[in-house]
Amino acid sequence: MKLVFATNNLNKLAEVQKMLPNNIELLSLKDIECFDDIEETATTLEGNAKIKANYITQKFSFNCFADDTGLEIENLNGAPGVYSARYAGEPSNSENNMQKVLTELNGKTDRKAQFRTSICLNLNGKQFLFDGICKGAILTQKQGEKGFGYDPIFKPEGFNKSFAEMTSEEKNIVSHRGLAIQKLVEFLKSID
Ligand code: IMP
Repeated sequence: MKLVFATNNLNKLAEVQKMLPNNIELLSLKDIECFDDIEETATTLEGNAKIKANYITQKFSFNCFADDTGLEIENLNGAPGVYSARYAGEPSNSENNMQKVLTELNGKTDRKAQFRTSICLNLNGKQFLFDGICKGAILTQKQGEKGFGYDPIFKPEGFNKSFAEMTSEEKNIVSHRGLAIQKLVEFLKSID
């Protein structure tokens, strides 16, 4: 079965392909020659994941899944949430986004936060949603060089280091996206 992952991120694609059964061939947006800018206009992660998956299924008639991720900070009423990529404005800039979060939490002791990934799968006319949550806290300053996005300021629960100080293997085991993808993969294996 061919299955489109609505992403242009080749790292994400390779990571998921490794976890899937051999009879599922994963295709990227580039593989199906989709170069459209799919606007993420929803106000929830689930909504954006649905927009992306539905766009591909409707326009290209492929089974498809899409993901959307946000950092949800308790003390900021769940912000930046669905707006994580462009929290400090457009164009998306991770340094500015992290600085904005650190400034807003300056002096605050409650720094609880979580990353959440929502995945929408369109399979043979049916829609399925999966989510993955990684609980943790926002550090008071950046730590580590690895990863991307908010990794240097997020410390997952049960660890004494930030995501940016973890190897990608270590991070995948506990991360929001890793957990959501595991649920998707288990589901695809179960209907195999
Ligand atoms: P996306 O939905 O995967 O594109 O994620 C949206 C935004 O959330 C990204 O631009 C990053 O700022 C942030 N983000 C997503 N996943 C991670 C992660 O694993 N670590 C740090 N930041 C992330």
